[in-house]
Amino acid sequence: MPVEDALARLLALAEGAPISTCERVALAEADGRVLAEPLVAGLDLPPWDNSAMDGYALCLADWQGEPLPVSQRVLAGSAPQPLQPGTCARIFTGAPLPAGADLVEMQENAEVLADGRVRFLEPLKTGQNVRPRGQETRTGETVLPAGTRLGPIEMGLCASLGAAELVVRRRPVVAVISTGDELVPPGQPLGPGQIYNSNRSLLIAWLKRLGCAVLDAGILADDLELTRKALAELADVDLILSTGGVSVGEADFLGVALREEGELALWKLAIKPGKPLTFGHFRGVPVIGLPGNPASTLVTFGLLARPYLLRRLGVEEVQPLGFAVPAGFTWRKPGNRREYLRARLENGRAVIYPNQSSGVLRSAAWAEGLVEVLEGTTLAEGDTLRFIPLSELQA
Ligand code: AMP
Ligand code: MG
Repeated sequence: MPVEDALARLLALAEGAPISTCERVALAEADGRVLAEPLVAGLDLPPWDNSAMDGYALCLADWQGEPLPVSQRVLAGSAPQPLQPGTCARIFTGAPLPAGADLVEMQENAEVLADGRVRFLEPLKTGQNVRPRGQETRTGETVLPAGTRLGPIEMGLCASLGAAELVVRRRPVVAVISTGDELVPPGQPLGPGQIYNSNRSLLIAWLKRLGCAVLDAGILADDLELTRKALAELADVDLILSTGGVSVGEADFLGVALREEGELALWKLAIKPGKPLTFGHFRGVPVIGLPGNPASTLVTFGLLARPYLLRRLGVEEVQPLGFAVPAGFTWRKPGNRREYLRARLENGRAVIYPNQSSGVLRSAAWAEGLVEVLEGTTLAEGDTLRFIPLSELQA
């Protein structure tokens, strides 16, 4: 199954299972959450004409070129008097423009005479250095649509409009299961044949960044009865995310349990790393089974599970931004799966980590992004390919 087909199916499934319950949170708590209601401006921004410079405010029609006396000082945060005809006002950046004034001349172009009057050295123009009321936003405008993911910039914008609380989608509850008899949590000694569980840490941190509430279901041994029992205990979560045990190998207990007590789709994705991916339901709870190799977990979570989760929250833009870069390597063997190589930009070209094995997570820590090598293609140095920054996927 081509990657885009798998993604399309997952997004359709996500749209059929929206997490639509909302809650009101304080602005400071809104980072990473998804707006459930549009942010509508309750005021004009800026709320009044104001000065973009430190300088002098005056009325052009009222001025014949003569030096003007200063009739008031307007600081940011103060309320000015209407401008007295035949005068100018000392004004500072962000201060409201006095009624009657229609421009600001910066202080660098003004000379204060011995008698305190101000001479303007350059030609003046109506509106110069004035930030007009409502230039950014008008009352009633939708500034952020529902479905917007909130980050530092959006939170700043909400604050600028005076929003102290926001209505957001509730956090999805995601259970993380790591399957494998060989897995041991860090902190314990390794026995023969054992390895440390890396996917758990990777996924839990990532899910938290996505605004999920994580239920850590720990390590699950490769055993059908234990698998059934573990799944049954997760009846209240929004998604069960497991890693490992999805190859059509012997130890595919997740698949067996889903087939028995729910439904199962096992997809052989045309993606590398990360061929096998399970999607199913266990007693109505959606289950995504990612392949166990850490680099496969990373790629399939980033390109498939992440968009799925975001779409369940009503996010429209769920795909990472990528951009075209020239290859700084050659690719001679055309593959029948789309490859996502861990890559870095060096002198504007994508270079790849020497070991692209799906078991090597270090490749991704070294990398700045994934480059996409399409099915059936070869590459010469300088050929264009898509670079997807890891920062896009981990946002
Ligand atoms: P599996 O899909 O269970 O056959 O696992 C594929 C490979 O990924 C095996 O080498 C596993 O040991 C490894 N693996 C599976 N789960 C994890 C995990 N949570 N952390 C690190 N490696 C894993
Ligand atoms: Mg396994």
